[in-house]
Amino acid sequence: ATPTAILVGTGRGALMGILFRNGEALERAQAVRRVVFDKTGTLTEGRPSVTDIFTVKGIDEADTRQRERELLYLAANAERGSEHPLAKSLVTKAGPALLTAQVTGFSAEAGAGAVAFVDGRLVCVGNRRLMEQRGIALDPTLLTHAEALEAQGKTVVFIGVDGCLLGLVGIADTPRPEAKAAIADLQAMGLEVAMLTGDSEKVARVVAEELGIAEVYAALQPHQKVAIIKRWQAEGRGPIAMVGDGINDAAALVQADIGIAMGKGTDVAKEAADITLLGTNLRNVARALRLSRAVMRVIQ
Ligand code: ADP
Ligand code: MG
Repeated sequence: ATPTAILVGTGRGALMGILFRNGEALERAQAVRRVVFDKTGTLTEGRPSVTDIFTVKGIDEADTRQRERELLYLAANAERGSEHPLAKSLVTKAGPALLTAQVTGFSAEAGAGAVAFVDGRLVCVGNRRLMEQRGIALDPTLLTHAEALEAQGKTVVFIGVDGCLLGLVGIADTPRPEAKAAIADLQAMGLEVAMLTGDSEKVARVVAEELGIAEVYAALQPHQKVAIIKRWQAEGRGPIAMVGDGINDAAALVQADIGIAMGKGTDVAKEAADITLLGTNLRNVARALRLSRAVMRVIQ
């Protein structure tokens, strides 16, 4: 009866848009006690859009406008080769007319940003850590703008050119409509819920509060997501399910007892996962765990 129940369970899952990698994944999911979510592209739409642009002040209004256009041009072209949602928002904001630069030496810096030569100028687009790594000093006025944007729950992306800070953009990404209900579903099942994100503390807090998640770990690099999951496992707080969408989540999805990849996520995440959700309905996380519990109850 055991293999039959599992076959039926995986089949039922598939009908709901929940793909279990194998029968063992379906069995293991039943014991999950803690569910952790990546934020960007997982709890949020991952279709963020540029809402604010600030540059180092020009000599007059026209000069400032010119700098803003230059910032968008350099940032968007540097990000053309990136599949990160923040990169896509810059590309979208710039539009095809601005995406005409000569770009060479593009490199994605996991959990930090992107670097490329744009028309021969070295452009760094990313968070504070990337600016620090590249020796780009942050201007106090721009930092004030950055803090104001973060207080609104926006992600701040800094743009450095040839070693100097040119400015920053504010990018807003809204939670998926069903995210709050999906978290509540899990909490009602007696599961602990936490967020692990590469985004800044302030942005993470605003989103987490909106969704009813009390436990938040922010400004994490991919290997730090793995380390936190390992620590919980060592402390006996598992089994742990991790839900993510990006390349930056792949290692954490593997480390977790159950890795769950979003259907619209990257292939790397799906390859690393035990469960893949077709589509993006976050309520399928609780449904997957409930299905596993139901199947295992039948067997036991
Ligand atoms: P999350 O865990 O929220 O999905 P990531 O690990 O993908 O976030 O990225 C962490 C942070 O690094 C982002 O919030 C952003 O500040 C920065 N970042 C990463 N990739 C890029 C990029 N291509 N362009 C700009 N910023 C980036
Ligand atoms: Mg992500």
